[in-house]
Amino acid sequence: DLKVHFPLRRPKGLRRSITWVKAVDGVDLAADPGETLGIVGESGCGKSTLGSAVLGLRPEARGEVRYRSKDRVIDAARLDGEDEATYRREVRMIFQDPFASLNPRLTLMEIVGEPLRVLHGVTGSELEDRVTEILRRVGLRREHLNRYPHAFSGGQRQRVSIARALAPEPRLVVADEAVSALDVSVRSQILNLVQDLQDEMDLTYLFISHDLSVVEHLCNRVAVMYLGRVVEQAPTSELYAQPRHPYTEALISAVPVPDPRARGSRERIRLNGELPDPADPPGGCPFHTRCRYATERCATEVPELREVAPGRLSACHYSEDLALVGAS
Ligand code: SF4
Ligand code: MG
Repeated sequence: DLKVHFPLRRPKGLRRSITWVKAVDGVDLAADPGETLGIVGESGCGKSTLGSAVLGLRPEARGEVRYRSKDRVIDAARLDGEDEATYRREVRMIFQDPFASLNPRLTLMEIVGEPLRVLHGVTGSELEDRVTEILRRVGLRREHLNRYPHAFSGGQRQRVSIARALAPEPRLVVADEAVSALDVSVRSQILNLVQDLQDEMDLTYLFISHDLSVVEHLCNRVAVMYLGRVVEQAPTSELYAQPRHPYTEALISAVPVPDPRARGSRERIRLNGELPDPADPPGGCPFHTRCRYATERCATEVPELREVAPGRLSACHYSEDLALVGAS
């Protein structure tokens, strides 16, 4: 039941009151060890806020973020003391923009070595050996150690970001739009690297992205977010083959496919209007203002996220009917 609500002050002269943006509004999710759980949705749906709450970086977070470490369960919504130190080692983040996230004044040795020094107390020749080893794993070489970020391409810089995230040997990695800033030509290389490292290092990924084709390629299961809530959750292949929520159906219909026959003759579904203001979301089903199936009931009655098939959840009153549409 994770919630992250931000206070929003209205501009002066309008209204003096404070409204709340419910960026994340009662999310329940679980990732199994070794899996890649995708979080998708449009910009502004709360997926990045969810990611930063999982990283323990949202003091406003309410509810729980339970993380099972080797010997105990840690609540990342309330980190302190030894729990915080363990969590910072075991849960790491890959940033979106390798140009903005690497300090141009530091060498690769300093950038990648810093978390090992700070979190594990590694120094001297052991530090150099371990940095060399992790650089090798991401496809960089020892002679890169003393170079600065400007000497590298976008793809190589993202390899450095990944090395920095993985150097402390984490167990869970939160990747927020990890390949979105990269050229299409290097994107698949980095995605393959991310997959190989998962197998080699026993990693669990929370993979946040607006790009549904990337998510389809990488994730075992997917949660779809809309206005701070999960509206559908399913194993990836099932979600793409037959979405059980109208919002997912529209998102998937917009994914370009190399061979249009591969996904049937599904037409592109245009959503009505814009994403509503998260500070003033619609009542009833939050998606009803844009949904092509909406009825009067949808404007007043909030659909619960419920199991609609084994391992599949949907928050739509008419999820069963949608299954019939998809099958026809
Ligand atoms: Fe659309 Fe109604 Fe389902 Fe909401 S509950 S997604 S408005 S059909
Ligand atoms: Mg974001």
